[in-house]
Amino acid sequence: MATRTHCPYCSLQCGMQVSGPRRPEISAWDEFPVNRGALCRKGWSSASLLKHRERLTTPLVRDRATGELSAVGWEEALDLIAERLGALQAEHGKDAVAVFGGGGLTNEKSYALGKFARVALGTSQIDYNGRWCMSSAAAAGSRAFGLDRGLPFPLADVEQADVVVLLGSNLAETMPPAARHLAALKERGGKVVVVDPRRTATAELADHFVQPVPGTDLAVAQGLLHLVVAGGHVDTDYVAARTSGFEPVRDSVAAWWPERVERVSGVGAGQLRELAVLLGTSERVIVLTARGAEQHASGTDTVLAWINLALALGAPGTPYAGYGCLTGQGNGQGGREHGQKADQLPGYRSIEDPAAREHVAGVWGIDANDLPGKGRSAYELLDALGTHGGPKAMLVFGSNIVVSAPNARSVSDRLDALDLLVVADFVMSETAARADVVLPVTQWAEESGTMTNLEGRVIRRERAITPPAGVRSDLDVVAGLARRLGSTAGFPTDPDEVFAELRRASAGGPADYSGITPERIVAEGGVFWPCPSVDHPGTPRMFLDRFAHADGRARFHLVEHRGPAEPTDADYPVHLTTGRVLAQYQSGAQTRRVKELPDSGPFVQLHPQLAGRLAVVDGDAITVRTRRGEMLAPAKVDEGIRPDTVFIPFHWVGANLLTNDALDPTSRMPEFKVCAAAVSAAGGAR
Ligand code: SF4
Repeated sequence: MATRTHCPYCSLQCGMQVSGPRRPEISAWDEFPVNRGALCRKGWSSASLLKHRERLTTPLVRDRATGELSAVGWEEALDLIAERLGALQAEHGKDAVAVFGGGGLTNEKSYALGKFARVALGTSQIDYNGRWCMSSAAAAGSRAFGLDRGLPFPLADVEQADVVVLLGSNLAETMPPAARHLAALKERGGKVVVVDPRRTATAELADHFVQPVPGTDLAVAQGLLHLVVAGGHVDTDYVAARTSGFEPVRDSVAAWWPERVERVSGVGAGQLRELAVLLGTSERVIVLTARGAEQHASGTDTVLAWINLALALGAPGTPYAGYGCLTGQGNGQGGREHGQKADQLPGYRSIEDPAAREHVAGVWGIDANDLPGKGRSAYELLDALGTHGGPKAMLVFGSNIVVSAPNARSVSDRLDALDLLVVADFVMSETAARADVVLPVTQWAEESGTMTNLEGRVIRRERAITPPAGVRSDLDVVAGLARRLGSTAGFPTDPDEVFAELRRASAGGPADYSGITPERIVAEGGVFWPCPSVDHPGTPRMFLDRFAHADGRARFHLVEHRGPAEPTDADYPVHLTTGRVLAQYQSGAQTRRVKELPDSGPFVQLHPQLAGRLAVVDGDAITVRTRRGEMLAPAKVDEGIRPDTVFIPFHWVGANLLTNDALDPTSRMPEFKVCAAAVSAAGGAR
């Protein structure tokens, strides 16, 4: 008997069936509307994780004398953790303990972690790796529209658009089933525009491929808006009726004539003019951003610049048009709504809003005055670990920081400076390997819970197989620690009970889940939030009548191009950018262990011109250095990348030893996507 559930990986959350229990197998779930039976190779091979020989099945505690991890019982491990957390908080205050979550955790776990941190630990120090995923787009969406939901329309709407602009998204490799919507759009005669420093598999699908210097997407948007204004293509009725703040933005882009944009971005003035005409004369334009445009120290402003363009074209809040962000992690959307973020309470509420604090404190049965305030953002939290005034202990759930954090060597040093590092995971990730206590937890098909996909569609993962003996769910870990810490608040371990509480906590908030029930999710193929009552149909398309600001209008924002935080110079003359490959997912802790998925290891993609200057050929070892570290990897010589740029995938230890930890001032997103690097032949083929 096969169980209908969803893929363990990306934000598409493709529907699939898992049969079990001895030798779990994946089969298609044809009726699920998002992927209609299609899966990428990561999804098809995901059952390999369920019976993996490297699976952790017993808690491990590090012996301080020998430095070795050894097996202990659950009660001993939880007692030890609680005792040391209590002692550290007694000595250094509540904020001496930090919690770090993940964008792949279910809504229930995200919610429970936020409550556990604020109520059981009383700490403000909680954030999660989703901060590094789409927080710039979230900040921009909130500012422009009054509310952030990655895609404010179903992904299939893409098929009905006239033009889709993809910025910094390699959708064809990161979520291949989604590329079918682009194919359907093209069959209808629609056009695809891809903006990326690399000619990716997605760029191969494009009618127009734009290849800017990394870190200059904002200038390209300014130039296009300049041309849309100059060409008389602004939707003036829409701008007058549905927006505010257009005039100063219109005046500001007057200085972004195409030749200036070409000097800054490398995108030809002629191509910009052609694109502006295409966008300006098309009725339904969809602009989609992803990490390539967002993971910058000016990521929020970059997204706002593209939203300005979309607003000028009259797209957001118009059927089959608009702006959206393609979230990356499996629960990148839900994970940012229910309280594991430093500034947030469940229902996408602000922790600094007195009314929100009252509401959530009421659900949690505590006094709102006892709720901590806003804590540090993810990178700032990691950077403070073990410092004077910083956290002395950290609990990590669903995140492999050692691989995925920017400036990773520095972050590893900070982890090593902690008095106590606890990692809950189901395999020995690079971060778990540094922990003082490792807790073996359930994964994906071994537990139930809800996720919210990139469309804002709340879906349900069903438990398909029995977990191995010895593992517990993250919810059990949280409940066990809360009890030992003396918390009298309820920490249910049944995901359905947690979801029922989450619905109450989210009621009346921007991301209102109160009308979403597990039964409805199953019956309706997922329910889109906001859904404020059980007889509400959910909201597949947002902003059709009004935006979420009090006056119902969307906002234009004045933004200026700043360029990369670390410009190239004589010592570091090329741009380094990072990203994913088809067969791997995020830090690779899961996919690198799946034998069906090719594990190429890291490589350095570079243009033949640059390879010629370095006198290297395909496969030769190359050293890449930045101000933060260096790594060695084989060359992949490829005409598809700009000659001034190199690319390294981030699924292995290496790429993030090099990346820049400069932060966006609004979203606190690190600048993963561009830094200055020096490359040289390492000598000898690999
Ligand atoms: Fe679908 Fe993403 Fe899973 Fe691939 S990794 S099967 S695109 S959810």
